[in-house]
Amino acid sequence: MKEQEKKNLNQSNESLSNVSTIDLSRRDFLKASAVVAAAMSVGMNIPEELVQKAEAGEKGWRWDKAVCRFCGTGCGIMIAVKNDRIVAVKGDPKAPVNKGLNCIKGYFTAKIMYGADRLTKPLLRVNEKGEFDKRGKFKPVSWKKAYEVMAQQFKKAYNELGPEGVAIFGSGQYTIMEGYAAAKLMKAGFRSNNIDPNARHCMASAVVGFIQTYGIDEPPGCYDDIELTDTIFVWGSNMAEMHPILWARVTDRKLSDPDRVKVVVLSTFRHRTMDLADIDIVFRPQTDLAIMNYIAREIVYNHPEAIDWDFVKNHCVFTTGPMDTGYGMRHPNEAKKLGYSANGKKSFRFRSSSFKCLWLQKR
Ligand code: SF4
Repeated sequence: MKEQEKKNLNQSNESLSNVSTIDLSRRDFLKASAVVAAAMSVGMNIPEELVQKAEAGEKGWRWDKAVCRFCGTGCGIMIAVKNDRIVAVKGDPKAPVNKGLNCIKGYFTAKIMYGADRLTKPLLRVNEKGEFDKRGKFKPVSWKKAYEVMAQQFKKAYNELGPEGVAIFGSGQYTIMEGYAAAKLMKAGFRSNNIDPNARHCMASAVVGFIQTYGIDEPPGCYDDIELTDTIFVWGSNMAEMHPILWARVTDRKLSDPDRVKVVVLSTFRHRTMDLADIDIVFRPQTDLAIMNYIAREIVYNHPEAIDWDFVKNHCVFTTGPMDTGYGMRHPNEAKKLGYSANGKKSFRFRSSSFKCLWLQKR
């Protein structure tokens, strides 16, 4: 993205979040947003009046750094607070992930603090006498009462069942510090291993796949590769709508060098990410392993020059895997003839300290 466009975009982003919270009515704000968004998309300057209004409105604000907690991309945001209330949000231009941009969820992240339906008081299930009852109805109670009941019930379970009788179900959006405190409280404090975040649930199938395939449990890839690669595969993901900030970086890369950079999108249905694709493939569910095997075969047998041997020698380990990770669409009889048994004793596992193969580099 050109410098002037970036400047305009940052200015627009800031103005967009500011004007939403100053003295514009909702209707005016929506109109202003549409104008600003349209101006952004064509790289125009934002009307001076809006910029001035935003600057005047910043009087008495304190800006602090934060992380957007809506999705796992990790965008840095700046939050302005006045009189103990969040009054504006903007992307953090110094954050390497999003470089000053936010998606619509990020811009409105603070709004959830003040939603009409947001819980502001603890609710406790109580009986008609106002005592805790698991089968009772939710009623608002004071924080003091909520903590007392929680402590009472926790102690009861702990005394009866010991460390295995208690657990904490945390959030995937924990900050590092919060996660650290929670882990210490459970493990060092209560001597319990029962600590789990919702992230483990949403990533459970991916984690099993990673361990079986690469021998490690972590999403592969590195954001920096986006600006370095010439070929981007988006496989089974609708980045344009689900991870728009990273998609902005992919788009930037593609449009900065459209002839050289290729985008390949594979999915079981058509979506907006395909709008930018040089090649888009819609495949039947459960058949993508066959495509993967085809590509691997094509590289190994027909285009060995595409293999980065330095990387393979230094970072890859090929070993017999503990189980059969599948043979794509190969007919079971043929697999049997080749010596593969039902438990897949002859399969291979690929381990790598990084996963550059995702971004095939040909620089
Ligand atoms: S992509 Fe959007 S929702 Fe996700 S972290 Fe960034 S700003 Fe937040």
